[in-house]
Amino acid sequence: EQKKYQFMLRLKMPAGQMPVSLYKVLDDLSEQYGNHTLRATTRGTFQMHGVLKGDLKQVFSSIMNAGGSTLGACGDINRNVVATPAPIHTPIYEHARFTARMLAELLAPQSGAFAEIWLDGEKAASMEFWRHGLDLEQIQQWREHDNGRGQVFPGKEEPIYGETYMPRKFKIGVTVPGDNSIDVFTQDVGLVVVTDNKGNLRGYDVLVGGGMGRTHNKESTFARLADPLGFIPTESLVDCIKAIVAAQRDHGDREVRAHARLKYLVHKMGIDAFRKLVQSYMEGDGAALQPWQPLPKWEYRDWCGWHEDAAGRFFLGLNIENGRIQGDLKTALRRVADEYGFPMVVTPHQNIVLCNIEAKQCQPVADLLGQYGVVTDINLIDPLQRTSMACPALPLCGLAITEAERVMHSYVSRVRGLLDKVGLPRSTSMVMRMTGCPNGCSRPYMAELALVGSGPNGTYQLWLGGSPNQTRLAFPYEDRIEDSRLDAVLESVFCMYRERRRSYRELFGDFCARVGKQAIQEWVQTPSEM
Ligand code: SF4
Repeated sequence: EQKKYQFMLRLKMPAGQMPVSLYKVLDDLSEQYGNHTLRATTRGTFQMHGVLKGDLKQVFSSIMNAGGSTLGACGDINRNVVATPAPIHTPIYEHARFTARMLAELLAPQSGAFAEIWLDGEKAASMEFWRHGLDLEQIQQWREHDNGRGQVFPGKEEPIYGETYMPRKFKIGVTVPGDNSIDVFTQDVGLVVVTDNKGNLRGYDVLVGGGMGRTHNKESTFARLADPLGFIPTESLVDCIKAIVAAQRDHGDREVRAHARLKYLVHKMGIDAFRKLVQSYMEGDGAALQPWQPLPKWEYRDWCGWHEDAAGRFFLGLNIENGRIQGDLKTALRRVADEYGFPMVVTPHQNIVLCNIEAKQCQPVADLLGQYGVVTDINLIDPLQRTSMACPALPLCGLAITEAERVMHSYVSRVRGLLDKVGLPRSTSMVMRMTGCPNGCSRPYMAELALVGSGPNGTYQLWLGGSPNQTRLAFPYEDRIEDSRLDAVLESVFCMYRERRRSYRELFGDFCARVGKQAIQEWVQTPSEM
């Protein structure tokens, strides 16, 4: 008898959009074939864990026939395109969502192999929902349009990816000015929709070369913030995106997999040389690429809680602890799905937004969720919990060195307890993230305080100093802190923060970045200062 191999299955949901009918199918599949949970991921999609090998075909085909897709959610290819999850009906937000769906379609793999293997060759009604409203013929023309500069391989099965696909995964995110709900600096390509002062769409500011993954004790691998490539007018976006993809496809490192992400190419070449490379793939030497347009300050946005959208209806962002949907929460979401049928959005902060709620439905929905202990008043959630994220790690991820998701709650409690102990007020908070290995799936290197699994028995690398609005990388404070020492170190750092912050307005990550690692180490190592 064959071993009972189990798999993780991940959906592709551009802009995080999930129709309720598909959610119900997923919920059923997770009960019948999965581990009775669903997971909202940091890439704004759902994962299902624990699917046995013999059930894969059934699960794949059920998802595809319900209008969903798993195609391109993994692999060396464009992954799920994220967008700001706020379902606001203003042109700029609608355009961000539309762009995410359009680029997902443009860069979707064209090979029929997936259907042959998993769907008996049938072209199922896959991706029906996120293709809705797109001009598929136009996108097909864009995909195959050859501008004579080596962007595409006309006539090939994969006109953009060619025979080699990409050297490594590729991630795109789209947002609007000021709304950093997608961690825009961590994307391979970050797009910011730019409008004129009347709200008319002008184009996009383009960032390139962000990424989190690194390897412990390997200095040549590192987390990196994306650099500004420039501003691209709307009509040249496709040309520009195809050029960036082609540049990485042809020049990304295919020898050393650890260096294969776009960030290493941008880093090696420098942004100016990389910009020239991209322009060499574009029409007219990339004359359309203009200088970066100034943007307002970025803000941390998770869209949790109640919000009124432009159409006079409401949406509700639910804070989901580490994205794990199980138990009473799962039952509650299913009841809301059955009784109200709200479409959902999965956010890049592992949360869920329920959309299109009429004013008269708000209280009954809050009551229904409340019956199952689901908190809808965001003020009742500890801000530390609200902004924390952890990856799945043990026992679900083969790369995990330590726990993350299963212990995050206790670490959040410990940090809150230490903040209380040193006398910092309850309003003190920080973006806190945890992973089971340095791959960085929950984007720990952008956090104000992060724990990255580095050894057995709960030994973590401690990172400090990311910015509260996710625009600055943290720095590694110490490589291996055993669990038994962690509280003493953090307590000391929090004491220093209490004593040395410029004012109560200086947030923890900003404080750590200002004073720096050496000053913190000196404080921590001086017992009298505690
Ligand atoms: Fe797995 Fe590492 Fe990603 Fe966590 S960060 S899910 S342990 S690969």
